[in-house]
Amino acid sequence: MKEKILIVEDNPLNMRLIEMTLRPKGYRLLGATDGEKALDMATREKPDLIIMDISLPKMSGLEVTKRLRQMPVFNHIPIIAVTAHAMKGDEVEIIDAGCDAYLPKPINTRQLPEVIAELLRQRTKDGT
Ligand code: MN
Repeated sequence: MKEKILIVEDNPLNMRLIEMTLRPKGYRLLGATDGEKALDMATREKPDLIIMDISLPKMSGLEVTKRLRQMPVFNHIPIIAVTAHAMKGDEVEIIDAGCDAYLPKPINTRQLPEVIAELLRQRTKDGT
């Protein structure tokens, strides 16, 4: 069974772009459009990887990530942050919050699947 990926994104166009990029790879895709829904969906569905927009209604992607990392079951699930506004210091904050990788917007549709595949590969290798 192909891996389950949760896409957290409040912008419908970006959501659709990410879905269209990943659907041909055969992943099972889930979506959440704000921070609270992201937390609910993640705890209910236990995705194999999360793509996390940082700027979200209700709860930022950084806050969602911090809360997920406090739960043992989410210790090793790769989280890829995406954001349009990152500056040097923000990237440190993103990694400190517990994200494994950071991609700037607009999403590079060639790079995203590569980063996902690599993180899923590492995870399998670690046996976590
Ligand atoms: Mn956003």
